[in-house]
Amino acid sequence: MTSLPAGIEARFHGLSRLIGNTPLLAVDYTFRGRQRRIFAKSENLNMTGSVKDRMALHLLRCAYERGTVQPGALIIEATSGNTGISLAAVGRALGHPVAIFMPDWMSTERVNLLRSFGASIHPVSREDGGFFGSIEKAEELARETPGSFLPGQFANEDNCETHETLTGPEIHYQLDSHDLKPDAFVAGVGTGGTVMGVGRYLRSRHPDVTIHPLEPSNSPTLRTGCRVGQHRIQGVSDEFIPSIVDLSELHEIVDVDDGDAILMAQKLATDVGLGVGISSGANFIGAAMLQDQLGSDAVVVTLFPDDNKKYLSTDLMHDEPSKPDHLAPHLELHGFTAFNRVCRICNESEEWLRMMRIPGSEPGPAAS
Ligand code: PMP
Repeated sequence: MTSLPAGIEARFHGLSRLIGNTPLLAVDYTFRGRQRRIFAKSENLNMTGSVKDRMALHLLRCAYERGTVQPGALIIEATSGNTGISLAAVGRALGHPVAIFMPDWMSTERVNLLRSFGASIHPVSREDGGFFGSIEKAEELARETPGSFLPGQFANEDNCETHETLTGPEIHYQLDSHDLKPDAFVAGVGTGGTVMGVGRYLRSRHPDVTIHPLEPSNSPTLRTGCRVGQHRIQGVSDEFIPSIVDLSELHEIVDVDDGDAILMAQKLATDVGLGVGISSGANFIGAAMLQDQLGSDAVVVTLFPDDNKKYLSTDLMHDEPSKPDHLAPHLELHGFTAFNRVCRICNESEEWLRMMRIPGSEPGPAAS
């Protein structure tokens, strides 16, 4: 492991204050006449408003420590949006130029945000290969650009490690500080880094916890191995099963209709003031489905991967017709409380900083 160049360490430290260690929300609702509660990590509160800030920071830190990225190197990535925004912001904060390849059908807010962080954007049409085309073209530019860094989020184990060493321990300690243990965790799969990493950590602490990947029922990539339809849950189900996803480590796949996800995200904002994105609505529906199977007292945990600001030009802002099998119209939200972030001050010198770098090390208890 290489020590970090002078100045870069301080920048990482600054970024670590703006990324991760999010509150765990306890959202209260009624379904089928029973009062229930679902736990969700508020990843919308990260620096650029998404869970991907965690991955961008961790991947770059690992790359610096291994000496595979040098100060000022061009960062190149293929991404459907949030990863690009995170890499663009974190990359700029560390002094890197960033080039992003993405399908040309992503929301205009995403494209404009990338632009605002000074990234160069390379849109790829369906005819030019869409998502696969973006990956190929990113790899091509990386081959042609000596010294460039290609994070390769779909195949990079550091992506899973982000959640195994940070998000997973946070969930464990936040629940533990309220004497709770997780029964199930569910998360929509884009790269799969979240579900694989959180799953590995939670299983190491709670062998009986079940870990569920979630995908849109309108376009089930995990069930089919390829993209079969269209869906509106940006950030998940990207046409193929990423190599970091090992379905044998996971429990049943949860399927959620994209319209139901939209209705749920709308409801979280209008009824309880949680302005979250469409995949957050999907995750909440998936968690409610699991809780309905496991029992209304089951501790089911998920996350809100991003905020709603990137979806202001999408169907999230339109009236969504409800279908007979939708769950969102039957869930009544009552409000939420927030469990504390894990205490960084008490653990600053030892555990927390160790956890920022070394897989397997852990933070201390949640602040009281
Ligand atoms: N929701 C949104 C909005 C995302 O951007 C992503 C990341 N692509 C996910 C969910 C899925 O996260 P992961 O890549 O860790 O599977």
